[in-house]
Amino acid sequence: TSFDQLGLSSQINDGLLAMNFKKPSKIQEKALPLMISNPPTNMIAQSQSGTGKTAAFVLTVLSRVDLSKPEQPQALLLAPSRELARQIQAVIKTVGQFCDNLIVEAAIPGAVSRELGVRASIVVGTPGTVMDLVRRRQFDVSQLKVLVIDEADNMLDQQGLGEQCVRVKGMLPKTIQILLFSATFPEKVYNFAKKYAPNANEIKL
Ligand code: AMP
Repeated sequence: TSFDQLGLSSQINDGLLAMNFKKPSKIQEKALPLMISNPPTNMIAQSQSGTGKTAAFVLTVLSRVDLSKPEQPQALLLAPSRELARQIQAVIKTVGQFCDNLIVEAAIPGAVSRELGVRASIVVGTPGTVMDLVRRRQFDVSQLKVLVIDEADNMLDQQGLGEQCVRVKGMLPKTIQILLFSATFPEKVYNFAKKYAPNANEIKL
C-alpha cells in the first residue's frame, strides 16, 4: 500500500515526499484508514516507539483541520512533558510544511502570549497548561474536532496526569474524536482508556 490510496490532500502528500516517507509503516497502514474516515471514530493504538505512531496521529490531525480558519483551534494533542510536546509540534510543522496558513502552537508553560492567547489551528500541550489556558479563556476549545493523547500509558496512569486528562476532556466538545497512542497498555490503563475513548477501534501491533 502507498500513501496515495489514503486520499490525503496534495499538500500533505508533498510533506510526506519532502520527509522521504515512501510508504506507510505497519501502524500507519492499519490505523490511518480507520482514523481519517467519516464519521470519525475513537482509536486505542498500541505500538512500540520507532514504529511511526507520531506520523500516524499527525497525519490524522492534519487531515481534519480546515485551514480557512487557521487561528481557530481544531485539534489538541496532549503529551506528558514539554519536550515531547515540542517534538510533536516539530513533526506537525514538518509534515504540514506545505499546508498553507497552518499554525501549530505549543501550550506549555511560558509559550502562549498572555495578550493574544492561543491562535493556532493545532495545539500541542501538557495537560496542566492547557487547563489553565482554557480556564483563563485564552484557549477556545469549542471547535476542537480531535484530541490525541500520546504516551497514554504515562498520561492515563499517574494519579495527577490521569485526573488532568479527564478534566481537560470534560471541557471539550462531547463529539470530539479521541485517539490514544501508547507503546504499552497495562490492564489498569487499558480499562481507563476504554472509558476515556468509548467505542474505540483497537489496534495492537
Ligand atoms: P515514531 O515511532 O513516531 O517515534 O517514529 C519513528 C521514526 O520513523 C521517525 O524518525 C519517523 O520520522 C520515521 N517514520 C515514520 N513514519 C515513516 C514512514 N512512513 N516512512 C519512513 N519513515 C517513517
